[in-house]
Amino acid sequence: MDGRDLRQYQDDDVISNLFSKIVSGKSGYKTIIDKNKPIPKCKTCGKSLTNNEKFCPECGTKVS
Ligand SMILES: [Zn+2]
Repeated sequence: MDGRDLRQYQDDDVISNLFSKIVSGKSGYKTIIDKNKPIPKCKTCGKSLTNNEKFCPECGTKVS
């Protein structure tokens, strides 16, 4: 019973560590996405478009 509890806490720790990294460091989050697949960027200002925006949230340029 104690062993099972311990494993559960370890899992929680790993997940919460990962999550806090994502939340606390936006650059880290971006790096993870970059590794998985190239993300589209605004041709005008270079802003990363992570949510399939039709228009750049930074400068308003239409994204093809
Ligand atoms: Zn832009």
